[in-house]
Amino acid sequence: MDRKTKIVEILQEKGEATVKELANIFGVSEMTIYRDIKELEKEGYIKRKHGSILLRNEEDEEDKIKEKICPVCEKTIIRAHPYKISVDNKNIEACCEHCGMILHKQYEDKDVFAITYDFITENPITAFNAFYVVGSDAKPCCSPSVIPFSDRKMAEKFVKGFGGKVMSFLEVYDEINKTINLNIKSCCQDKQVINISQLKKEK
Ligand SMILES: [Zn+2]
Ligand SMILES: [Zn+2]
Repeated sequence: MDRKTKIVEILQEKGEATVKELANIFGVSEMTIYRDIKELEKEGYIKRKHGSILLRNEEDEEDKIKEKICPVCEKTIIRAHPYKISVDNKNIEACCEHCGMILHKQYEDKDVFAITYDFITENPITAFNAFYVVGSDAKPCCSPSVIPFSDRKMAEKFVKGFGGKVMSFLEVYDEINKTINLNIKSCCQDKQVINISQLKKEK
């Protein structure tokens, strides 16, 4: 068995190891281990973290998701269900609905699809159909907070406890972007998209 394979086995057993430890185990120089590690890293088997060598696993993909940055406020996105916009065959995620509305403003001319998640049930909702509590005392992310609900009654209940105001998508869009004359276009496709500029022309 070659040394690289052996290193992978050791990492499977121990969980992690340092270059120094591996050099001792194999009775070779740290330089030699470094070379093995470099190759293993290139091949995607391992990663280095805080001076230790670890095997790569599915959790690494989660790490990557956690390191996503909101394109609006540049906060690290930590929520399991960020606000998602699909436009030009791209998926863009905002840290929260607040930034989502600002993101929409950047794509006013485009057909946009957006998904939000109910604050309580975490079920996905087409963003244009959700009810939003704006400016409540609950501030999970950016202020004024914009908290989505699939059910208007739930949103109203939330307002009784935490304040704020229940708004439709359009009202929130206006509130956050301070713009006017926004309408929603329901098309015959599965996806409900909006093209804000187009709607303004039609008006
Ligand atoms: Zn943001
Ligand atoms: Zn935010």
